[in-house]
Amino acid sequence: MSSGENTRAVHGPAFPVFPQVPLGLPVYRSAAFSFDSAQAYADTMNGDVPGYSYSRVDNPTSDTFAQAVAALEGVHVDGEVVGQPFASGMAAISTVLMTFTHAGAHVVAPREVYGGTWGLLARVLARFGVETTFADARDLDAVRAAVRPETTVLWGEVMANPTMTVSDLPGLAAIAREAGLVFAVDATFASPAVCRPLEHGVDVVVHSATKYLGGHSDATGGVAVGRPELLARVKHDRVELGGALAPDEAFLLHRGLATLPLRVDRACRSALAVATAVEGHPAVVKVQHPGLPSDPSHELAVKLFDEGRYGACVTITPRGGRAAGLALCDALSLVENATSLGGVRSKTSHAATSTHRQLDDAALHAAGIDPAAVRVSVGLEDPADLVEDLLRALDTL
Ligand SMILES: *Cc1c(COP(=O)(O)O)cnc(C)c1O
Repeated sequence: MSSGENTRAVHGPAFPVFPQVPLGLPVYRSAAFSFDSAQAYADTMNGDVPGYSYSRVDNPTSDTFAQAVAALEGVHVDGEVVGQPFASGMAAISTVLMTFTHAGAHVVAPREVYGGTWGLLARVLARFGVETTFADARDLDAVRAAVRPETTVLWGEVMANPTMTVSDLPGLAAIAREAGLVFAVDATFASPAVCRPLEHGVDVVVHSATKYLGGHSDATGGVAVGRPELLARVKHDRVELGGALAPDEAFLLHRGLATLPLRVDRACRSALAVATAVEGHPAVVKVQHPGLPSDPSHELAVKLFDEGRYGACVTITPRGGRAAGLALCDALSLVENATSLGGVRSKTSHAATSTHRQLDDAALHAAGIDPAAVRVSVGLEDPADLVEDLLRALDTL
């Protein structure tokens, strides 16, 4: 069929389909997909035949990323583990929480939960009739006591920010099982290279892929992982809520996964070296890192985490309160003042003025956070250089 300039410009030659499998993950930068027939369109939309229709629903690149995370989370799990991709960690968290709650439902969440999740529960979902009790997650009796007949979700975090408190996942899972709750856990601070919560009785694992999974501070995304039955419900609500992961971001996040165990192993070992080196410094009141034998979470970390991998963040509390925390951040030269964590570059965040700025000193103390506390996200620089930078900065205090 002959066609004019505009028709040719729009349609062009057909896209090539190669017999070879590419080594690089193709970026399917397409919002929509075509079908061989109107019936195939209908069958795909109904879910009667597999296929892609619209990228908010499914995109091959984004889906490949989510299944790659599921493969890592499910490495030692019998049976199928699947994932759903999200535009951000908060898109994953909000969708999972909305999937398993309804007006009149109740959630039990940790008192020191991530600020975004706290805001979602306390300020957003509360408007829709979902109530939350924030309990001390270290105290299993307190968590059990917080459960009500209308509770549907127990929310947890593998490691709390910035205290690095490790959750007793098997203990919390038993409470959830007894009460028939969905036990969902934010595993962002651990990553599957440190701890795989599905092995410890967790039903749904969520991540901010923006952190360790992507690992290079250049892409925003999230993921939820679990058994197919629960994840089918999460997918249903994800499609309606709209927090789809863009294929370009999915490509970067997927590429990050290839080096996740290498990066995280290295960063965890450097973090322990840093924690050990600064622990005895005269300007330091307290160092929080589950790899330190002195840390209250050490025993749980040994039980739940992979050998030698205790997370790659270290929280240092210098003497002198809020001002000393800020001074420590500014005295560092290699380690940067920057948001987020889990990237290749080491960075600090002073909790009281950044991640936990909504809390006054009394509220900080109640949450177990010292106003001086500085969280260091350890990156991939040489550990000796990081130790030198930190010791030198502490000497100036
Ligand atoms: C960053 C983070 C989130 C939110 O993820 P985004 O990708 O920023 O939406 C959730 N939980 C934890 C523990 C985080 O560190």
